[in-house]
Amino acid sequence: MTDCIFCKIASGEVAAKELYRDDEIVAIADLNPQAPTHVLVIPRAHHEDLAALYDSGGGALAQRLLATATKLGREHGANGFRLVVNTGEEGGQTVAHVHVHVLAGRHMTWPPG
Ligand code: AMP
Ligand code: ZN
Repeated sequence: MTDCIFCKIASGEVAAKELYRDDEIVAIADLNPQAPTHVLVIPRAHHEDLAALYDSGGGALAQRLLATATKLGREHGANGFRLVVNTGEEGGQTVAHVHVHVLAGRHMTWPPG
C-alpha cells in the first residue's frame, strides 16, 4: 500500500522509534502516547484490520502479533498491561493497517471511551 503510514514505517521510508523488528513484525512507540508505555505492534504486510487479516488466512500472523504484544507488555508492565485492537470506524480505528496497542505504566480504567 503506497499511501499507508504503517507500511512506510515498516519499509523504513518513514522514521519511527522502533522497539522491535523481525521478519514479519515491527513494534514502534506511539506518536501520541496514552500511557507511560504505548507501543504499536504492526505486521510488515498490509492488512486493513484484524477481520481482514483473518479473512486472508492470517491466523498464524495474528498469533505472532499477540505473542509479541504480550512479550512487550510483560517487559514494560511489571504490574500489568492492556492490549487493544481497535477495528473499523466504530471500533475507533484511525490507521487502516492492523496493529495491536500495548499500554502499560499506569492503572487502566474501564469502560474505555
Ligand atoms: P488506531 O486509532 O487504533 O488506528 O491507532 C493508531 C495509532 O497510531 C494512534 O495511537 C496514533 O497516535 C498512532 N500513530 C499514527 N501515526 C503514527 C506515526 N507516524 N508514528 C507512530 N504512531 C503513529
Ligand atoms: Zn499498510
